[in-house]
Amino acid sequence: MLPPDNHVHSEWSWDTSKVGTMLETCRRAVEIGLPAIAFTEHLDFTSWGADDRPPPGMPGIVRRERITPLDVTGYQASLERCRGMFPGLRIRSGVEMGEPHHFAGSVAAVLRTGAFERLLGSLHSIVDDGRLVGADYLFGSQPADDVMRRYFAEMLDLVKGSDVFQVLAHCDYPRRHWPREAGEYRETDFEEEYRTVFRALATSGRALEINTRSPLWSTTLMRWWYEEGGDAVSFGSDSHAPVRVGARFDLAVDIVEAAGFRPGKDPFDFWRR
Ligand SMILES: [Zn+2]
Ligand SMILES: [Zn+2]
Repeated sequence: MLPPDNHVHSEWSWDTSKVGTMLETCRRAVEIGLPAIAFTEHLDFTSWGADDRPPPGMPGIVRRERITPLDVTGYQASLERCRGMFPGLRIRSGVEMGEPHHFAGSVAAVLRTGAFERLLGSLHSIVDDGRLVGADYLFGSQPADDVMRRYFAEMLDLVKGSDVFQVLAHCDYPRRHWPREAGEYRETDFEEEYRTVFRALATSGRALEINTRSPLWSTTLMRWWYEEGGDAVSFGSDSHAPVRVGARFDLAVDIVEAAGFRPGKDPFDFWRR
């Protein structure tokens, strides 16, 4: 059996098409035999709020013009409708929190609604030149290696600085945008950075995501998670369109299994060592 898809977006995410993708995504999940999915909608903020912990200098938050607040009530109603329509599919609520170590207060206020089961922590933006900006925007103006190393350093701060999430999502996110001119992306060039993040995450007892929208990881990379004490693996397609739910899970399962992890006793659970 395929593992649950723990990272899926629907029309309730600001960057996803507004036409009934939650319903169509459920339909597709049943079609391909997924046991469970979690709609982890984006939770991103465009200004600093009460009890947030902005980095020194309180950098400006840039390039977030498209972001709109998550409509928690509408989202919950939509989940309930889908649960009624697809009783054989376990449909979890969830949220993908961007930079939760910085936006601690803003995140906490939304989590207090109690509306979310699957909690993902993400880093999309890092501080550069007095602004908080998408890490991928820095490629082109700075050496690609430097961007990745700064990203991993910030990722370590996120893992150590926030305990609100259960799963660390796409921990090498800028890799999706690795510039062609920089040559091939070599995981081994960043082995120490990956291992350092993995060690901190394992110590805190949380799960690591294998994200199948990003370039697929090697077994060697997934093995580093195992060797650093990682216990749990979460599969996530990061789907923003129904056709992508559960995408490449057949390949991801082989990688995770080869690294030493097995399905949990509960088919809705993470895979475990
Ligand atoms: Zn993300
Ligand atoms: Zn996502």
